[in-house]
Amino acid sequence: MRRSRYFLPTLRENPAEAQIASHRLMLRAGMIRQSSAGIYSWLPLGHRVLRKIEQVVREEMNAAGCQEILMPAIQPAELWEESGRYQDYGREMLRITDRHDRPMLFGPTHEEVVTDIFRQSVRSYRDLPQNLYQIQWKFRDELRPRFGIMRGREFYMKDNYSFDIDHAGAVRSYNKMFVAYLRTFARLGLTSIPMQAESGAIGGDYSHEFIVLAYTGESAVYCDRAWLDTDPLAMGIDYEADLQPIVDEWTRLYAATDDKHDPGACTVPEDALYQGRGIEVGHIFYFGTKYSKAMGATVTDPDGVEIAVEMGSYGIGVSRLAGAIIEASHDEAGIIWPEVAAPFKVGLINLRVGDSACDGACEALYARLAEAGVEVLYDDRDERAGVKFAEMELIGLPWQVTVGPRGVKSGTAELKARAGGEAEALSFESVSARLIGG
Ligand code: ATP
Ligand code: MG
Repeated sequence: MRRSRYFLPTLRENPAEAQIASHRLMLRAGMIRQSSAGIYSWLPLGHRVLRKIEQVVREEMNAAGCQEILMPAIQPAELWEESGRYQDYGREMLRITDRHDRPMLFGPTHEEVVTDIFRQSVRSYRDLPQNLYQIQWKFRDELRPRFGIMRGREFYMKDNYSFDIDHAGAVRSYNKMFVAYLRTFARLGLTSIPMQAESGAIGGDYSHEFIVLAYTGESAVYCDRAWLDTDPLAMGIDYEADLQPIVDEWTRLYAATDDKHDPGACTVPEDALYQGRGIEVGHIFYFGTKYSKAMGATVTDPDGVEIAVEMGSYGIGVSRLAGAIIEASHDEAGIIWPEVAAPFKVGLINLRVGDSACDGACEALYARLAEAGVEVLYDDRDERAGVKFAEMELIGLPWQVTVGPRGVKSGTAELKARAGGEAEALSFESVSARLIGG
């Protein structure tokens, strides 16, 4: 992509309304623009990031055996009357009336819709288990939308729903999601800690929130510091095997959110206990037959008896993750994208646009990288070097390649990692090899 044509409305000044780094940087880097309170447009740079995050989430869901669907954003109120949640959900639900005076709503979550699909389509235990997911915009009329897309009213969520014949099956499904979530967040470069969370009306310990530690987070959390040295990607996962030992291993260390933390029961010594704040990026939940009973989602078991299916639901805040990654990875100058979520892998800076040697070298490198499938943002504008460098730092692409008249004469360009380290003068050949290779 040529910067001269790219829609990238960056801001020089810090926007007054932004209280936390991710909000400030997303506005300044031209990733998002507010439309109304808690409702945002995603501009090209932000949209690329959202797609990258979504893709990692999708890959991990598919690997865990889930199947992607897409349910309607607008739902009929009837279904929520059936589950008994229409009144309970309260003012966070955006209620709509259509032209025939039918009550509708913009979905804050999809348990009812998916249960309805299930009961229309599945009759026998032989068709279980099932696990369906979607990645879609949700609306919750939050009392206090804030921190940009971190707590929006409209936000992008991956939600999935498992259906099993019995409790043991439901636990297997829950464990798969537990492991898939650990892997997803780790692939995005985040240390996420599964914490016991309030499981609401149903009870049991089958609810975990996945929290990324950040001092700007909204949740107060307590955990064993040993969590910070763990790497979920180090283990090989076979989703067909019994995952209970892995889940046990990953829940052995103490971790609890504020509402579950019990100083009496917490055996972690004071100096090993992290007490701080975190961002909830995911939440998994086992709730048994709550919806299946209320809505008549039953199957026949091997003895021909009709039984209500065991369900769980699982959510990841895809748009919130963009903010969480920035909170975890930025400096004074701007964002530092991990490669998986970066809008482009490389920023190519031409220091002397109009100089035929510089232009020629940049065009050749740009073409070479494009051909190899490396995503490059090429700053081909006739701008001061300082402006270009500042913008590259701000938008935080993992690699910067700088091409100037002096280097070009000796056949070199400078390669620098945004995350730190010295710039290296390398031949154009080595620059491409490095960027294409790794
Ligand atoms: P919270 O406690 O932050 O209000 P929640 O428990 O209501 O979230 P869930 O229903 O568990 O949220 O939704 C699944 C995930 O969706 C959350 O873990 C979070 O990452 C994300 N999410 C929830 N509400 C919002 C929001 N208003 N803006 C952005 N992301 C959100
Ligand atoms: Mg939650």
